[in-house]
Amino acid sequence: MDCVFCKIAKGEIPSEKVYSDDDVMIIKDIDPKAEKHYLMIPNRHYKLISEMTDGDADALMRGIRKLPSLAEKLGLENGYRLVINQGDDAGQTVFHLHVHILGGQSLDFPDLRK
Ligand code: 5GP
Ligand code: ZN
Repeated sequence: MDCVFCKIAKGEIPSEKVYSDDDVMIIKDIDPKAEKHYLMIPNRHYKLISEMTDGDADALMRGIRKLPSLAEKLGLENGYRLVINQGDDAGQTVFHLHVHILGGQSLDFPDLRK
């Protein structure tokens, strides 16, 4: 499958992996948009929330619930923001669902209508 995140999971493309378990892996984003920018990537390939099975939802939520225990190690002890881009209007570029984890600085909340 021609999916960059599946290739990263198989070790075919290098990445800076900071965490992995049976549900998800967390890697550093190659093009960070904040002081700290990670991607939580489910081990199973699917594109959209609309394609999630109940098992996928459980796995992703287990991953998200790991974050408080990882926050200090990841430099996110002051807080973080989670973003899931879905589809064209959101600018999704990798079609393997993933959660952006942004932090390491005070994050503004841009008014995108400007
Ligand atoms: P999207 O735009 O789909 O929500 O986010 C895709 C993210 O994946 C982008 O932030 C982009 O920088 C990141 N990305 C794309 N290719 C690679 C890669 O090969 N390695 C890593 N670590 N991140 C990637
Ligand atoms: Zn994939």
